[in-house]
Amino acid sequence: MNINEKNNFLFANISSLKGVGIKTSKFLKKKKIETINDLLWNLPYSYTDRSNLVTLDKLEVGKILTIKIKVIKYNFPRIRNLPNRIICEDQTGRIDLIYFNSREGYIKKILPLNSWVVVSGKINFFKNKYQITNPNYVSNLEKLNIINKKIPKYSLTEGLTEKSYNKMIDQVLNKLSNVDEWLDLEIIKKYKFISWKDSILKLHQIEKSPDLTAPYYKRIALEEIISHFLVLSEFRKKIKKIKKNKKIFMEKISGFLIKNLTFKLTNSQKQVIKEINKDLNSNYKMFRILQGDVGSGKTIVSIITASNVIESGYQCAMMAPTEILAKQHYNLVKKIFANHKINISFLSGKIDYADRKRIIKDLKEGTIDFIIGTHSLFQTKIEFKKLGLIIIDEQHKFGVKQRMNLAKKGGDNCDVLLMSATPIPRTMVMAIYGDMDTSKITEKPHKRKKTLTLSKPEEKLDELWPYIKKNISEGNQVFWVCPLIDQSKFLDYSSAKKRFELINKKFPNRTGLIHGALDKNEKEKILNKFLNKEIDIIVSTTVIEVGIDFPNANLIIIENSNKFGMAQLHQLRGRVGRGKKQGICILLFKGSLSKNAVKRIKILKLSDDGFFIAEEDMKLRGYGDIIGFQQSGVKYFKIADPIIHEDLFIEAKRLIDKIKVNEQNIDKFKFLLKLFDRAEVINQ
Ligand code: ADP
Ligand code: MG
Repeated sequence: MNINEKNNFLFANISSLKGVGIKTSKFLKKKKIETINDLLWNLPYSYTDRSNLVTLDKLEVGKILTIKIKVIKYNFPRIRNLPNRIICEDQTGRIDLIYFNSREGYIKKILPLNSWVVVSGKINFFKNKYQITNPNYVSNLEKLNIINKKIPKYSLTEGLTEKSYNKMIDQVLNKLSNVDEWLDLEIIKKYKFISWKDSILKLHQIEKSPDLTAPYYKRIALEEIISHFLVLSEFRKKIKKIKKNKKIFMEKISGFLIKNLTFKLTNSQKQVIKEINKDLNSNYKMFRILQGDVGSGKTIVSIITASNVIESGYQCAMMAPTEILAKQHYNLVKKIFANHKINISFLSGKIDYADRKRIIKDLKEGTIDFIIGTHSLFQTKIEFKKLGLIIIDEQHKFGVKQRMNLAKKGGDNCDVLLMSATPIPRTMVMAIYGDMDTSKITEKPHKRKKTLTLSKPEEKLDELWPYIKKNISEGNQVFWVCPLIDQSKFLDYSSAKKRFELINKKFPNRTGLIHGALDKNEKEKILNKFLNKEIDIIVSTTVIEVGIDFPNANLIIIENSNKFGMAQLHQLRGRVGRGKKQGICILLFKGSLSKNAVKRIKILKLSDDGFFIAEEDMKLRGYGDIIGFQQSGVKYFKIADPIIHEDLFIEAKRLIDKIKVNEQNIDKFKFLLKLFDRAEVINQ
C-alpha cells in the first residue's frame, strides 16, 4: 500500500473534522475552505505569544498575556444581560474575568472556587480594575504547557474563534503522515530540505512571520511549482501525440502579399513566420502562441500564415475578442487579399439570420476560405469542410483548460495559432504557456515613433484643457482613462462618470463614456462613434479593449496613474500613436510621489519594451499585480511566489525536463497534484 494514501483524509469535506457542523462549514466556506486540504493551505500570517507568564503586578493593558491566578469569588448577577464576573488574584494583585452569555454551571466547572488556573487573554482596564473579557484560554495547572506557547494566528472570518479554528487545524496536523519521498536526494541536499511532513508542520507553527526563504517553505513551494509544470507538460505531450497531414505550399500567395505591403517585414516577423511555416509543414499539430508587444505587427504575421494554409487547400478561421476588432481584421484581410480569388467572410452575433444561414452553409461546403469573427465562430452549429488553421487574437483571457479544449477543436489536421500582447516576464513563460510552443516578435517596426510619456500632478489639471483643445483642432482624438479606485466595477464607474460630466461640459456632444457596467453592444456603439470621428474624446475605466487600431487617437491621459501597474500603463498607452502621428501619454498623479513611483514613471518614460517593463514591474510590485498573470487564467499559486522563488521556477523546469513521465511516475506525483488542486491531469 502506498503510504501517501494515509493522507487521503485531506481530500475529504471539512465537515468530517470533529466539531465542524453545518454552521462552522458555512463560515469556512466564506473563506473558500471546503475540504480539509483547503484548510491546510490557509497559512498563519503571524502568531500570538502566550509564552510569557506574568504576575498581576506586571500587567499591561491591551496586550495578550498569560497569567496564573486563584479563583476567589463568583459574582453572578440576577439581572439578565449583565455579565458574570469572577474575581481572581495572585500574590501580587487582583483581576476580574468577565463572561458574557456563559452559564453558571460552565463557569463553575472551568473555574472551580479556590483553585489555581492558567488564563490567557487580552488585558483590559475598566472602572479601576484589570479584567479579561471572555478569555480564550482557560485551563488547570497541569495543562500549563499547552497554553504557555506561541499560537499561530490565522485570518478568520466572522463566526470563527481562534480557539475553535486552531482546534481544527491541530486535528489535521496531528493526523498527517509522512509521505514517500518524491524529491531526489541531490535536490534535498542542495536546498537543505526537511521532510514533507515536517515542512507542512513548520508552515503552521511559525515562530515569527512566515519566512518564504526558509527551507521548509521552499520545499513546499517547489512541490507546488512542479505540480503546476507537470500538468502543463502532460497537456503538451497529449497535443504532441496528435498526427496531422503536412500542409504543402510554395508561399506563392504570401510572396505576393509581402511584396505589396507598404512596409518591409521586420527580421523578427520573418523569423516567426519561418517558425510557423515549419509547424504547418510538419506532421504534428501546431499549438503555438505568438507573443509580441503592442504594435509589434502580429496581425500581418497571422494573415501571411493564413495565406499559406489557404494555398495548401484548407480553410482558416480567425477569432477576435470583440466585434470591432474582428471587423477591423476583416477589413484589413479583404484589402490585403483584394487581388486574389479568395473567399472571405465575416461572422458575429449581430449577423442577421439569412446571412448567417448562408455563411454556415458555405463553411460546410468549403466555399469560404477565410472566416473572421467573434467567438460565435465556435458555436457547435458551425462546421467546416476542411479547417486547417484557427487564429485567436488577444487570447489572454484563456486558461489552460480552455486552451486544451481549443486544441481539440477543428480536428487533428487543424493547426492553432494564438496571439497575445500581454507581456509575461521570462521566468513566467513556462508557468503560463508551458503547454504550448512559443514564438516571440522581439523588435518593433522602426517606422513607429515611441509614444512620448509625460507626468503631471493632478492639481495642474486645468493646464490640460487648452492643450486638448489644440489637439482636437488638429484632428487628433483623445482617450481619458479614469482612476482605478478598487476592484469594484461600480466605484470605478462612478469616478469615470464624474469625470465624463466635467469633460462633456468642456467638449459638449464630442465626448463618450465607457465603463465596465455597460453591456458589450453599448460599448461597441461608442467605440464605433469614436472610430468614425463622431466624437473626439472617450472617457473610460480600463475596459478599453486592446488590439483595436484608432488611427487618429494620439493622446491618452491616465488619471491617478500610480494606482496602475507599469505593464498596464504600457498597454494603455499602446492604444495611441498607432497611426502616422506621434502618440502622447500623460500620467496624472495625486499628491507627492513615493520613490518607487518616481522610478516607475522613469522606466515608462525611457522604455518602450513591454516585456522589459513587465519584468521591472514584477520586481517592484510583486507578481500578483502583473496583468499577464491575472488575465492568463493560470491559477494563483498558493505557496510559491514567482519573484522570491525565481530559482525554484528554474529548478522545476529543469526537473520537469528530466522527468520522463510515464504512468508510474505520474503515480508518484498523484498526491502532489491533488494537494495543489491540479488533479485534472490524472482524470483526463
Ligand atoms: P499588434 O502586434 O499589436 O497586433 P498590429 O499587427 O496591429 O500590432 O500592427 C500595428 C501597426 O503596425 C499596423 O498598422 C501595421 O500595419 C503596422 N506594421 C506591422 N508590421 C510592420 C512593419 N514591419 N513595418 C511597419 N509597420 C508595420
Ligand atoms: Mg493585435
